[in-house]
Amino acid sequence: MEAALILLAAAAAALALAWARERRLRREDADRGRRDLAEQRFRREAELKEQSQRTAALFDRMVEGLIVVDAAGRIRMANRAAAGLFGFDAPASGKTVLEATRNHEVSAVVARLGRELEVLGHELRIESTGAPRFLQVNALALRDSGGASDGAILVFHDLTRLRQLEGVRQEFVANVSHELRTPLSLIKSASETLLDGGKEDPAALARFLAIIDKHAHRLALLIDDLLLLSTLDSGGLRLDKQPLAFRATVQDSIDDLQPRARARGVTLENSVPAALVVLADNERMRQVISNLLDNAIKYGRAGGKAAVGGRMLPNGRIEIAVEDDGPGIPKEAQERIFERFYRVDKARSREQGGTGLGLAIVKHVIQAHGGEVRVDSEPGSGSVFILTFPPAAPTQ
Ligand code: ADP
Repeated sequence: MEAALILLAAAAAALALAWARERRLRREDADRGRRDLAEQRFRREAELKEQSQRTAALFDRMVEGLIVVDAAGRIRMANRAAAGLFGFDAPASGKTVLEATRNHEVSAVVARLGRELEVLGHELRIESTGAPRFLQVNALALRDSGGASDGAILVFHDLTRLRQLEGVRQEFVANVSHELRTPLSLIKSASETLLDGGKEDPAALARFLAIIDKHAHRLALLIDDLLLLSTLDSGGLRLDKQPLAFRATVQDSIDDLQPRARARGVTLENSVPAALVVLADNERMRQVISNLLDNAIKYGRAGGKAAVGGRMLPNGRIEIAVEDDGPGIPKEAQERIFERFYRVDKARSREQGGTGLGLAIVKHVIQAHGGEVRVDSEPGSGSVFILTFPPAAPTQ
């Protein structure tokens, strides 16, 4: 009996020990489970945070402006480009679209997305950051899994540069048409006069044929200049760059222009040092110097002087200067004379047979050589056109 009690007590003690061990293990398991769960949640949150940071960085690198709004029309997220376009501080979360963009048209697009699924190609003009900008917005309504409205995404493309280029193109076409029409109508009226009987009078015949010849020549010059500019624009001009003794190139231009210069009593001078070498295309350089000297003859002082000089700068670049002692160029026009068809005095340029493209060609040809052109002029005391070229030999 006693032995049985002892056995029972021992079994109970063993059982108690086993329970205690079981309880301890369970407790340990529960602790471990809690720890695992917390760890999992921590890892998941870190992953989500990293993902959203990566998405935000990606959105911020987008060229297009991006705004995401919630169902109440408040901003959930706006990228840097959108903030730049409308001039607000990103991310602007919580603000309404109108508060952030200060643009009624954008908030009208958001309102439309309450009724429509998408708004595509809507164009708008904004003035929030100074100069007007032209934007195109494409927007998409968001729906949750139950089909209820969950806000919208708006993507803004900046069309300003495109609009500016369209404007430049339209202006160019209008200018070209005008430039072509003027000599053409003069040729037409001269030939009509001749056909109407003018040809019977030898003096009238000579006069009107001279008009036709002059304006046909002007048309040919204009078309040559236009074709050259279009080749320069398309990057299609092939330059045959050679080390040029620039003094000789300048002398060729001077020899070509001597009759015109003499007719206005203008002295042409070549003071480019004989040793000066420029890495350039000879034909194109001759054209550049001819355009500049031709202008010096046309717009400079009758009986005056035009000179071409050159030197090597300490950094190895080469500078060529074409200088006249004419009336100079007004300050406000100096920025614009390299534009196509810009003239300070339209009537004077046309009367001299100018196409209005000479300096635009100079600028493009020099840029194609990796160089630059600028003008320095004090009204009343002449003009200097300065060309700079990269070093003829690579510096060590
Ligand atoms: P254009 O065919 O009219 O000469 P350019 O492009 O060569 O066209 O020159 C543009 C304008 O710049 C000229 O119409 C003229 O008004 C001005 N210009 C150019 N060179 C000179 C100069 N040396 N002195 C004064 N004005 C000049």
